[in-house]
Amino acid sequence: MPDDTLSNLYQELLLDHYRRPRNRGKLPNYDVCIEKKNPLCGDEITLQIDFQGDTVANVGFTGQGCAISQASASMMTQLLKGRSRAEVEALARRFTEMLHGDDTAARDAALGDLRALAGVSRLPVRLKCAMLAWGALAEALAAPAK
Ligand code: ZN
Repeated sequence: MPDDTLSNLYQELLLDHYRRPRNRGKLPNYDVCIEKKNPLCGDEITLQIDFQGDTVANVGFTGQGCAISQASASMMTQLLKGRSRAEVEALARRFTEMLHGDDTAARDAALGDLRALAGVSRLPVRLKCAMLAWGALAEALAAPAK
């Protein structure tokens, strides 16, 4: 498949998550709620996680901003449910590697739809947009367990 077709598919996927965000909304019960802003672009994300012991039982987000920031949050939440903290941390590391131009990470099936954001590694000004939800996730993981 030629590269431009692949990037068109990725563009479609990104816009699909932007228009129909997964796991968007407030949770009835949650352990952590983290709000993050990216003033450079005007992006906002509020992430809520309901932990069951060591596992992410449920996750939801609300927010507004550019397509990259909102799609990244949507794609991220899609991969979190049922994962342990260690698995979520490994995912976050892999995603960060991809955004820093790691080609093997960009092809890693573990990243699911997030691979659509691989091109952001060539757009340094958009890194903060793509990382916003992940900053919230890192703070959520660091929050004391209840
Ligand atoms: Zn943005």
